[in-house]
Amino acid sequence: MKRTSTSAQKRAHQSNAPWFPALARAVGKDRASREPGILDAHAGDSWFASHRPQAVVFAESTSDVARTLRFASLRKVPVTARGAGCGYVGGCVPSRGGIVVSTARMNRILEIDPADGVAVVEPAVITAQLQAAVRERGLFYPPDPASLDECFIGGNIATNAGGPRCLKYGVTRQYVLGLEVVLADGSPIRVGGRTLKNKTGYDLVGLFVGSEGTLGIVTQATLRLLPHPPARAVLSAVFPDARAAGAAAMAVFARGVLPSALEIADRFTLDAARRRFGAGAVPPGDAHMLLQFDGLPEAVAAECRCSRAALESSGATSIESADDEERCEQLWTLRREFSPSLKATGLKKLNEDIVVPRGRIADLFAFAESLQQRYGLAVACFGHAGDGNIHTNVMYDPGDERSAAKTGRVLDDLFDRVLAWGGAITGEHGIGLAKKRWWPRALSPRVRRLHAELKAALDPSGILNPGKFV
Ligand SMILES: Cc1cc2nc3c(=O)[nH]c(=O)nc-3n(C[C@H](O)[C@H](O)[C@H](O)COP(=O)(O)OP(=O)(O)OC[C@H]3O[C@@H](n4cnc5c(N)ncnc54)[C@H](O)[C@@H]3O)c2cc1C
Repeated sequence: MKRTSTSAQKRAHQSNAPWFPALARAVGKDRASREPGILDAHAGDSWFASHRPQAVVFAESTSDVARTLRFASLRKVPVTARGAGCGYVGGCVPSRGGIVVSTARMNRILEIDPADGVAVVEPAVITAQLQAAVRERGLFYPPDPASLDECFIGGNIATNAGGPRCLKYGVTRQYVLGLEVVLADGSPIRVGGRTLKNKTGYDLVGLFVGSEGTLGIVTQATLRLLPHPPARAVLSAVFPDARAAGAAAMAVFARGVLPSALEIADRFTLDAARRRFGAGAVPPGDAHMLLQFDGLPEAVAAECRCSRAALESSGATSIESADDEERCEQLWTLRREFSPSLKATGLKKLNEDIVVPRGRIADLFAFAESLQQRYGLAVACFGHAGDGNIHTNVMYDPGDERSAAKTGRVLDDLFDRVLAWGGAITGEHGIGLAKKRWWPRALSPRVRRLHAELKAALDPSGILNPGKFV
């Protein structure tokens, strides 16, 4: 009886992907799998959507990716590229099944060239490992998503990832000079190169960066490196409320200082941190600001002094400063604990990465409070205030159906307001599946059609990451 059901399951499993033996022959048996555990491990990311692929290919080279895509385009099988699976929007979820191309085995740093100021990498190099490797050569790769200990450069490129340092240094796009990409039909192409300037034709590098795996699979990247700043300093300040903190940020900029990071957190977030680490974890006050400066020591000291004066005159009730590595890291620890502290409340958090024009930061904090009053759900805000990219976390009780049901309406109101201010529904994470519902509101019909036209030109059979926003 047991044997019958096992063989029935086996037959069902095989009929689910009759093309699999041919795929395994095309890419090599050691690189293709239909093991149930492996399919499950490639079904989801850090968002909650999940869908099993029919097969996983562990590509080891550009030609493995090319062979897979050639195979898939002939048979019209969906293909979804996967990096580390840290995404927050279900981007690498193979929502139409088919093949997941895991890049995990393509993890070599091929070159670090201090003279040209570039690194050439395969897509599965972990962001923090690249940063550490170039640091040893006195170089700096600035993009710093909070997931940098796990996420891959390929995933960062596909989502145009950002982080706190983007205020001064910009997002991933600013560091991608050249790409090798395999197109949907299996042809590898190279766009861009290893020079800072390159105005040959359209900006195809920019087209692929942030395209969330819908236009091609990145198999190699040439990245721009900077000289590593020799010094840094951090200021950690508390304000009576978020409006005062927003005004203080403007006062810092008005003095001609551009910090490398400027982060603000609101009352709900601070209270969550105080509950977790004790009341003394954050001095009294309803808003927290963290600023970082980097560069030559004299410049850092001057920027720090100047900013401190701006914070004091804007009503900061407490300011701590650090200019040695250990103490700087200690001050960052509090900021890094905000997200885990919100999770520790026991509520579920929907982390939205909206971005508003910088002058709207104080308005955004006030609007989040008004949402709390209107819907009775906490909305915790913290993040990259210097560039307007605030993580707006809608907190709800997953055990309470009414509370969970309200989250959609909170997000509708939030996104409508952000768009009305000239902001965007995503600054870092992308659209993926999570924000698909709001895609039609975010861009005009003609611009969405242009996306569809570009997609059709590069992927006429629609096999690359189907079911997402295009
Ligand atoms: C704790 C945590 C903190 C985070 N903090 C930040 C943050 O500060 N800033 C930020 O920007 N993001 C952040 N994220 C989101 C996430 O880490 C980034 O989106 C990251 O860039 C995803 O990389 P990944 O390798 O995990 O990609 P995946 O999740 O595997 O894939 C993401 C998308 O990229 C596509 N893709 C992956 N590799 C390739 C490739 N080689 N070619 C083409 N397409 C590809 C996938 O199809 C998918 O659409 C965070 C996530 C977590 C879990």
